[in-house]
Amino acid sequence: MTTGVDEVKGTVVRAFGNLLQVAFEGSLRQGAVGYVRLGDIELKSEVIEIAGGIAKLQVYEQTHDIRLGSPVRFTQRLLEAELGPGLLGGIFDGLQSPLEEVAQVSGVFMERGVYLPPLSRTERWEYVPVAHVGSLMHRGETLGTTQEGRFTHRIMVPFDCYGTYKLTWVASTGLYGLDDPIAKATDSEGRELTWTMVQRWPVKMALQEGMRVKVEEVMSTGLRIIDTQFPIARGGSFCTPGPFGAGKTVLQHHLAKYSDVDIVIVVACGERAGEVVEMLREFPHLIDPHTNEPLSTRTVIICNTSSMPVAAREASIYMGITIAEYYRQMGYSVLALADSTSRWAQALREMSGRLEEIPGEEAFPAYLASRIAAFYERCGVIELRGGGRGSITLCGAVSPAGGNFEEPVTQATLAVVGAFLGLSRARSDSRRYPAVDPLISWSKYIDLAGRHLESKVEGWSGMVRRVQKLLIDADEIRRRMEVVGEEGTPINDLVVYLKGEMFDFVYLQQNAFDPQDAYCPMERQLELFRLLYSIFETPFEFADRDEARSYFLELQSRLKNMNYLAFKSGEYEQAMKQLEQTVHFEVAS
Ligand code: ADP
Ligand code: MG
Repeated sequence: MTTGVDEVKGTVVRAFGNLLQVAFEGSLRQGAVGYVRLGDIELKSEVIEIAGGIAKLQVYEQTHDIRLGSPVRFTQRLLEAELGPGLLGGIFDGLQSPLEEVAQVSGVFMERGVYLPPLSRTERWEYVPVAHVGSLMHRGETLGTTQEGRFTHRIMVPFDCYGTYKLTWVASTGLYGLDDPIAKATDSEGRELTWTMVQRWPVKMALQEGMRVKVEEVMSTGLRIIDTQFPIARGGSFCTPGPFGAGKTVLQHHLAKYSDVDIVIVVACGERAGEVVEMLREFPHLIDPHTNEPLSTRTVIICNTSSMPVAAREASIYMGITIAEYYRQMGYSVLALADSTSRWAQALREMSGRLEEIPGEEAFPAYLASRIAAFYERCGVIELRGGGRGSITLCGAVSPAGGNFEEPVTQATLAVVGAFLGLSRARSDSRRYPAVDPLISWSKYIDLAGRHLESKVEGWSGMVRRVQKLLIDADEIRRRMEVVGEEGTPINDLVVYLKGEMFDFVYLQQNAFDPQDAYCPMERQLELFRLLYSIFETPFEFADRDEARSYFLELQSRLKNMNYLAFKSGEYEQAMKQLEQTVHFEVAS
């Protein structure tokens, strides 16, 4: 490690867990990165408070062996993400160390103090200049491009360059390494700058250039309960709270595989190491159903497992969203998934406790809600300066203890997101997957989705709302039946209940592990929904309750089977016709 001239030096005067107090001389910046020296390694840390010659430092690593007097050097830089070609397919920890390379250098058990450059310095990229010598350039504007798999990766004027720059030299088309100059420019005061294909950005600040515009498109997921009942907007936000084991991680993995976006950023934050390792093993082999290419070619994974240092958890969330913002600036639609934001909030709570801040609800810091809001605000659609749009859709899993949604993290999240997909224990216990509970979930994007689908199915939004009402009524009748029994329930009520159950079974439930069932394209959702809706509108005359029950049970198993077969054979239209005919049958008594 080199020691820059403007580095500030200090020594540890107090240590409390991963919170250090460091006496220093000179001028320090809030959020600056510092390194604590321990023998021949250095531990990365961040300044979180400065007062009277003492800096409080949060260390991103296990802190054993740190002692009074341990030397510290402070840089003038904040915790940054390295941005450039080669991020896609990458697997990083919360500080953006590439995990595979770290494992190679330090063995399977990650050593402390090993920080490798996130992006490869040996790989070379075919660079094609776009901007010409003499052009006036501004932050975020395209200097040139390189091909990152099937994505055109724009090399942009670094986002920390705020003025007007005149290009004085551009590299010609050819192969370049990340540290090779690809353009030179002078600023308004005549100083010359040299730009490469890589730039850095402080992760805790939103990276944005261009105008924020309204969300207008729907992001389809292939899950009927989401796309039909609780749709998600591209550039919008949503959360998936649920108790342990309800299916949050399975749902996020589904979204990573099937969502209709260009690029996916997965942040595994504070989850069990075994689960994360499983994901890392599985992911490179999965095929993107939209392009038939390996999913890893469009995915960046950031992981901070529960066995890694807590402090880097906070960083992992910001690292993920910063990389998402970088690709948004190239005009891509990005989905960023965080699993789970509760573990991130716990990291905040631990730190706040050590700082002896006045605690808020459940000992979370008083600024918890504003941190959560600031995080979700980083989603959105941006109209780029050079034309075109990019978006970030943001999804956070929340894992409240005992599945109690009344706790601060869930509540603060609900206040800011555009859709709430609540997973319930009751549904996962009865294996109704995905366990998104239609009775508690909501989406502010229903009308937006409706505007898109009205042209295909007239009256779509109204139909969705009526089915939602049917589900609520069916649930109420179910509760009543639990008390009075089926005999005490009017036959018309029983029919409403049976319709609700049928819709749940045939439409809302999908098995994530069944390749035929896991993904349902929008066109098929529309047809199946329309068919079910027409069944709901049919006036039934049943002789008695038994007949009603038999009819719906038979119908739902026929619908499920035929729908399934249709998917398998690919002869969907033909099967759909058969499905329509199957509605009219005699119940064998
Ligand atoms: P969480 O992250 O909420 O703790 P997981 O996502 O790990 O829970 O899910 C726990 C288990 O539930 C999975 O291992 C799987 O067996 C089952 N499961 C969850 N979602 C589905 C689904 N959509 N289809 C089938 N099984 C599911
Ligand atoms: Mg999980």
